[in-house]
Amino acid sequence: MNTRTPFQNYQTNLKKAAKILNLNDKEIHALVTPDKIIEKKIKVKTASGEKEFLAYRVQFNNARGPYKGGIRFHPEADLDEVKALAAAMAIKCAVVNIPLGGAKGGVQFNPKDFSEKEIEEVSRAWAHAMVEDIGKDKDIPAPDMYTTPQIMAYIMDEFEKNTGRSEPGVITGKPITLGGSLGRTPATGQGGVYVLEKLLETANIAKNPLKVAIQGFGNTGYHIARILHALGYSIVAVSDSKGGIYNVNGFDPEKIFATKVEQGSVESAAEEVDSSLKIITNEELLECECDVLIPAALDGAIHKSNAEKIKAQIILEIANGPTTPEADEILFKRGITVVPDVLANAGGVTVSYFEWVQNGMNFYWTEKEVLEKLKPIMQGAFTEVWARAKKHSISLRDAAFLIGVERILEAMRARGRI
Ligand code: GLU
Repeated sequence: MNTRTPFQNYQTNLKKAAKILNLNDKEIHALVTPDKIIEKKIKVKTASGEKEFLAYRVQFNNARGPYKGGIRFHPEADLDEVKALAAAMAIKCAVVNIPLGGAKGGVQFNPKDFSEKEIEEVSRAWAHAMVEDIGKDKDIPAPDMYTTPQIMAYIMDEFEKNTGRSEPGVITGKPITLGGSLGRTPATGQGGVYVLEKLLETANIAKNPLKVAIQGFGNTGYHIARILHALGYSIVAVSDSKGGIYNVNGFDPEKIFATKVEQGSVESAAEEVDSSLKIITNEELLECECDVLIPAALDGAIHKSNAEKIKAQIILEIANGPTTPEADEILFKRGITVVPDVLANAGGVTVSYFEWVQNGMNFYWTEKEVLEKLKPIMQGAFTEVWARAKKHSISLRDAAFLIGVERILEAMRARGRI
């Protein structure tokens, strides 16, 4: 298991890049020190009385543009995790070269234990606590784990009520009716598919039928399964927090998802849709017979105890931080290609950027226009990362960090901050 914290893992990855780039102490310090940490208690009325939660926003770096990054509602969203995710957002935006910085927010609680009305109260309390710190030219939140377009709508509404002005660009991942962008909901999955297709083309890997296993069948896991299935890939395994299903011959993820939404879990959906599906655990999913493994759920899923057992040749990191640095070393030695989160899942923030641009113009693109703009950004970033990895004989993660770090430092230098 992962014994080190998410921020320690970030520092390990950063140190590797710092060594290759020969960074000095001042530069390293700039990349491990957040600009601002906001930690506030929020009080929320619930059915069982008033409850207090911890609300966070970590603004890591804004040298390249306003702070940008999601908000997660999760029991493990503590300050260390939010800090690591904020740093990763700065790197991610730099890797795909969009003019934004990095931030992340969170509320440490489990939304599954609360009603829709109580979740609205938590969302409004978060916005109220952060009203001075967010804004379209300052810091732009978005969805992350267990947060939705509806939650973005509550936050925008609360922010606008407090400031007394209309400002849709304060947040992205909003419902379309409030200025959200077409294509934002499937964007993370779609971006991952563009990167995967470019990898297969570049590395000359025959495409069909590649067997794909996906851990996590929420919004992002579902969209990536749906898109890959439509492109002719064979989806052999999917799972949610309760467990997973496997069939070496593949299955239709659309049917499973529709039944999961009704029945509550992948397992119960399997029983109803297709009796040939084998029930597996999440651990078995990671180690199953497949060509492409897509962790799209928790961080730290691939660690030193299971990295040896993974059979996939490609790991596409749709979750944030699913592979620990120890597992990275094992996978690199085994010749397994890991497409890192800061590249593989950057489609989400890239379409968030498009949403923010459209809000600024108050003029909106079709879904086709959004996808036409997303594809070259994702595939161009992949090509740069791939070339850099080949040049230094390093992993794609290390190469992505090199590119991200260089761009952030270049902007900091231009501002005279370092
Ligand atoms: N939460 C997503 C991420 O980790 C999206 C962030 C955004 O759209 O700002 O990349």
